[in-house]
Amino acid sequence: MKIIMLGAPGAGKGTQAKMIADKYNVPHVSTGDIFRANIKNGTELGMEAKKYMDQGLLVPDELTVKILLDRVAQDDCRNGYVLDGFPRTIPQAEVLDNELTKLGETIDFAIDVNVPDENIINRMSGRRACLACGATYHIAHVPPKQEGICDRCGKELVLRDDDKPETVKNRLEIYHEQTQPLIDFYTKKGVLKTVDGTVPMNEVFEAIVAILGE
Ligand code: AMP
Repeated sequence: MKIIMLGAPGAGKGTQAKMIADKYNVPHVSTGDIFRANIKNGTELGMEAKKYMDQGLLVPDELTVKILLDRVAQDDCRNGYVLDGFPRTIPQAEVLDNELTKLGETIDFAIDVNVPDENIINRMSGRRACLACGATYHIAHVPPKQEGICDRCGKELVLRDDDKPETVKNRLEIYHEQTQPLIDFYTKKGVLKTVDGTVPMNEVFEAIVAILGE
C-alpha cells in the first residue's frame, strides 16, 4: 500500500503517518526527518538543506527528489510506504509518478489532513522537539512527563527554528503556493481522500482507517 500524506505544516500529518505505519506495517518515510538526521550528522546534504529549512523555505527539488527516490528504492519499501512531507511541489509529484509508472506501480491513496490556517500557527508554537532522538511533543496535546525534557532520551526539548511563528507564516504561504496544487493533481488521479484534521488525533486516525480499510 502506497500512501501520501498531504496537509499544511502542523496539520498533524506526521503523527497520522506514524500511526498508519504502525497499523499497516509499512515504513514511515519523512523527507523532513531524513534532512534533520543529515543535519545532526553534519553531512554535506544536511548543511545544504539547513540553509533552506531554517527560513521555512523548501529544499530545492533536485536534492529532495534524490533522497526520496533513494529511500523508497530500499528493500523495506517493497510492499509500500507512507510518505510524509513528500511530494511538496508539482515537479516532485511528477518525478515520483514517472518513477512509479516505470515500475508499473501507482499511489493508492493521497490523504489530505485538512486544518484551516488560523489553527496552524497556534498549534505549531506549542510543538517541542528533541534534537537528539527526533521525538516530538506538544505542550498542550502530547506533553512530555517532565516539562522541557524528552521522555525517550532525557535531553532538552526545543521549539524548532522552523516551528517559530515567523517561519510558520512563511511555510504556510509556501504551502498554499506550491503544495496545495497537489490536491488537484491527486484528485485528477482519483486517489485523493480528505479528512478533517481539527478533531482529536484518534478521531482523525479512525477516519483514515475507514478509508484505508481494517
Ligand atoms: P517537515 O518535517 O516535513 O515539516 O519538513 C521540514 C522542512 O524540511 C521543510 O520546511 C522543508 O524546508 C524541508 N522539506 C521536507 N520535505 C521537503 C520536500 N518534499 N521538499 C522540499 N523541502 C522539504
